[in-house]
Amino acid sequence: MVADTPEARLGTLQQVREDARVCTRCDLYRNATQTVFGEGESGARALFVGEQPGDQEDVAGRPFVGPAGRLFDKILEEVGIDRTKTYVTNAVKHFKFEPRGKRRIHSKPNAGEIRACRWWLDRELALIRPNIAVALGATAVRALVGKSMAITKVRGSIMESIEGVPVLITVHPSFLLRIPDEADRRRERERFAADMHKVKTLMKE
Ligand code: SF4
Repeated sequence: MVADTPEARLGTLQQVREDARVCTRCDLYRNATQTVFGEGESGARALFVGEQPGDQEDVAGRPFVGPAGRLFDKILEEVGIDRTKTYVTNAVKHFKFEPRGKRRIHSKPNAGEIRACRWWLDRELALIRPNIAVALGATAVRALVGKSMAITKVRGSIMESIEGVPVLITVHPSFLLRIPDEADRRRERERFAADMHKVKTLMKE
């Protein structure tokens, strides 16, 4: 049963984080360095969900600290979203990769891994109870809404998560980093900032 005071919720969130450290619900724990659990306020009004930790997050043990996370932080700051009122996490909490020489190349989590890791995402959502969850990319949409959808068709729309939390759908900030053309990149960055403005409004409702 979910505790009802902010202090009790924070305590429970820390306990859930501890429990996730030794998770073996799917095979991804075998090769990753550690579980990368969500971070932020237990009373956050917005809960952002990415795909999975990247190479840098896997080593640091913290979400959104790599290049995409830094870009994300910068855009939130520009939009005026108070990071202390947010919580960031990933749909899948272990880094999935293919070794290539000394490098570790990101590999997409499959449906079974996303389903297994929902165990933890469900607990984060239930304890934080945000006004709005934000799905950053297709894996997050699948985890939150429970269906595969083409981001290009549903971007900017608000759907309902499996537990009834409103979910705003947008791209993952790593997508912005991969756009080769500068004008396209600038345009997509502006669209992402517009999505974050919507989040800012929804955080206050
Ligand atoms: S990816 Fe998620 S479900 Fe799989 S082992 Fe890691 S924490 Fe557990």
